[in-house]
Amino acid sequence: MRPKILVIKGDGIGPAVVSSALTILTELGFDAEFVFADAGLDYYRRTGRPFQPDLLDLARSVDAVYKGPIDTPKASGYRSITVMLRKELDLYANIRPFRSYPRISLREIDVVIVRENTEGLYVEAETMLGRGQAVALRLASRRAARRVAEAAFNLAIQWGRRRVTLIHKASILKLTDGLYLEEFYNVAKRFEGRIEADDAFVDAAGYFLVKYPERLDVLLTPNLYGDILSDVAAGVAGSMGLYGSANIGDRHAMFEPIHGTARDIAGKGIANPTAAIHAAVLMLRWLTERGVCGRRCIEIAEAVEKAVQEVIREGKHLTPDLGGSATTSEYTAAVLEKASAILEDGGGEEA
Ligand code: ATP
Repeated sequence: MRPKILVIKGDGIGPAVVSSALTILTELGFDAEFVFADAGLDYYRRTGRPFQPDLLDLARSVDAVYKGPIDTPKASGYRSITVMLRKELDLYANIRPFRSYPRISLREIDVVIVRENTEGLYVEAETMLGRGQAVALRLASRRAARRVAEAAFNLAIQWGRRRVTLIHKASILKLTDGLYLEEFYNVAKRFEGRIEADDAFVDAAGYFLVKYPERLDVLLTPNLYGDILSDVAAGVAGSMGLYGSANIGDRHAMFEPIHGTARDIAGKGIANPTAAIHAAVLMLRWLTERGVCGRRCIEIAEAVEKAVQEVIREGKHLTPDLGGSATTSEYTAAVLEKASAILEDGGGEEA
């Protein structure tokens, strides 16, 4: 079993954080075939194209895509490359777990956001109406609402969670969010007695995330609400630099940090690679579930997770976003050293 992974390093801090995560995985013995592809603003400036022509074919041919953040050229006619990949690979559920770290997080939080990933305002259908007005279309379909709800409930069962809460604004968006609400409770019936189901307005959810995050469990959201609430959750949990996400479909999967290209710190060597490392851990777990990676993958994933927690708890090698002065490479080395020690102590069974 040797998984094939397509790697897109991305823009801004992308190459630095992706390299950090890949170094850790390969040094710990993750045996995969890595194929590299180019996409994003830097590639566009060099070639005049937003991504290399065979990108989609490559993405469809591998076991998983692992990517850094990508900037989309602002010139008209270019659509978001990340959104394009999510749609083309039909990655309908975007899973974003947020768990607090001692001393770093503002409050105790252990929340999973499951974000619908293919429709809503992300159909990118806007038009000028004239008279100084523009309009954006927001697509909601029963199929998308149903399958992402199923993904959220199945995740809740698999990850031992208690409740799924649908986030909406059906008081105003009666048809689009109303449809999500209806499908949500239809799916919830099949999980009755196993997983609780309730719903909340998106504005209230923002308030709860900041004020009482410990009361929240799995949040299922339409596309844009999930984007916004993820950043709120990351802020409460400590930093944009800490959390990764899994974009999952029935056939394909793509793993990436939740943060953007952070151009303000790009090239300074101080980006926090934890989000990219977390995305890699999610990928290892998914590859194992799919039977593409052996037991060694889970051992590596667990060792890396523990190592990150220990390095952050010790506080000696924190990057500036967490209040420290460590560089990306110093932090990477600290995580790698701890993870190797953990594997030597406990793990070690070959795949
Ligand atoms: P995008 O539109 O692509 O989401 P953005 O600039 O709105 O980009 P981010 O790139 O995520 O959002 O950056 C938001 C803030 O968080 C910036 O100040 C950035 O420096 C910080 N940040 C994001 N990722 C990291 C990271 N990995 N390490 C440290 N700081 C980060």
